[in-house]
Amino acid sequence: GYLQERIRYKAKKHGIEVNPAHSSRECPRCHCTDKKNRRGDVFKCSYCGYHEHADLVAALNILGRLGDKEIRKGMSPSRVKAVLDGRHVGWKLLNDTVTDRTSDEARVVDESPRSASSKSELRSGVQVCTAS
Ligand SMILES: [Zn+2]
Repeated sequence: GYLQERIRYKAKKHGIEVNPAHSSRECPRCHCTDKKNRRGDVFKCSYCGYHEHADLVAALNILGRLGDKEIRKGMSPSRVKAVLDGRHVGWKLLNDTVTDRTSDEARVVDESPRSASSKSELRSGVQVCTAS
């Protein structure tokens, strides 16, 4: 709760107002929004199984809404829910068919030799040849 308040306070200071509706019920991973997701201090997504401290989940969701173009301050909780449900459907479409996510990292090949050295630490296990 404290963290959420800090984030909202800080955001407001910068003129950003965050709509907190459903922020403690939304899964930060798959956007499944269900009151069953939260039980006391524990958040556990009923859809994807993501689990984390409930306050941290709410804080993550609030952070994620900074600059959100769809979820604005003043929207009713039911409209927020509609947006979140839409995102959850989108997530399911993307993730129910794609099971192998590790192949993404292997495909990232930087063609520019100048930035190769600075990015080499990100690619663990890949030797960067700078002698070319
Ligand atoms: Zn989830």
